[in-house]
Amino acid sequence: MISYAFRLYPNRVQALGLVHSLELCRQAYNFLLEKLRTGKASRNKVQHELVKLKKARSEFNEVHSKALQLESYRLFSNLRSLKALKKKGRKVGALRFKGKDWFKTFSYNQFGFKLEMVKSKKGILHLSKIGNIKIKVHRPVEGRIKQVTLKNRLGKWFAILITDANPKRVCGEKVLGLDLGINNYLVDSEGNKISHPHNIGKHAQRLALAQRDLARKRKGSSNRKKARLAVAKVHEKIERCRNDFLHKLSAKYVKGCRTIVVEDLNIIGMVHSARNARNIMDSSWARFLQMLAYKAGSAGCELAKISPRNTTKTCSRCGSLKEMPLWQRTYKCGDCGVVMDRDYNSAVNILNKFMGRGPALAREPSNTKFWQGDSMKQEAMASQRLPS
Ligand SMILES: [Zn+2]
Repeated sequence: MISYAFRLYPNRVQALGLVHSLELCRQAYNFLLEKLRTGKASRNKVQHELVKLKKARSEFNEVHSKALQLESYRLFSNLRSLKALKKKGRKVGALRFKGKDWFKTFSYNQFGFKLEMVKSKKGILHLSKIGNIKIKVHRPVEGRIKQVTLKNRLGKWFAILITDANPKRVCGEKVLGLDLGINNYLVDSEGNKISHPHNIGKHAQRLALAQRDLARKRKGSSNRKKARLAVAKVHEKIERCRNDFLHKLSAKYVKGCRTIVVEDLNIIGMVHSARNARNIMDSSWARFLQMLAYKAGSAGCELAKISPRNTTKTCSRCGSLKEMPLWQRTYKCGDCGVVMDRDYNSAVNILNKFMGRGPALAREPSNTKFWQGDSMKQEAMASQRLPS
């Protein structure tokens, strides 16, 4: 399964058609939820309610039948994930009706769509009941399209195509431990440091400005509406930058490694317990590990998890233990005299733990450069290498 997100360029009529379909799907979703909640339809009969809805209100014939049908799938999948959360002990309420701001996609499955290429990157997406919409296909589509999801993001329309092709990924030869940290985004057991994506910091400033601007606008004014959109746009930009960074980083490691070892942090627990600045970072780690797991899986690369116990406190050279408060950036061992970067020490420990070898056997980091000619930051950390 590969998914592609392409920008759509609907004309005015088509844009109205997309909005109309989206709205009908939202109403259908809420209608089905209402039927379930009030017990007017049982779970296996709820599909049938759609037929009745179409008879009672003819405008529901203006949206493709598959798209409506998918709303009942969506409803059940939402119910399932709610149930799963409940099982994990999370406090959850009943499933809510969807307001307009919370309903941004609808889908075609199997039928009702067709992608046709016109020029190298220009295409036409035929959508039944809506029309032939211009689409920018910025990368070639592999496989057969199984589903098309139409998404409205801040006034722009996108089509997310899902095909049946398998991503062609290959893994590498290395066995590396990765330490996810606060000061560096990540340090691996070869000593490569990846700093936090700097472009996000840049946009964070823009975000602060936009938010200040928004706070100054009178409530209910149209200027406030505009300011709110501006804030949302910066948020979205940050989100895209972060995802791009995480995708590239995880792809690089999978490409270079046969086995990747990480700490088994109970990240889900962390995300929902901490309400501080680390919050955001934790969720980005969780996402990074998800991407890593997914990409590793499709490339035949092993993603191993080890217990995080003592990975920071242990000397990766001689194995002695010492306290390492958060502010201490360097690991200085009182027993063997090793001086190395804190996170690098942890990364070596993570690898050693997985290999089942004692810390004293830790090897010199190899001099081979893992990152080859790419834009990501690479620091040799020469000063922090183990003394021989
Ligand atoms: Zn030591």
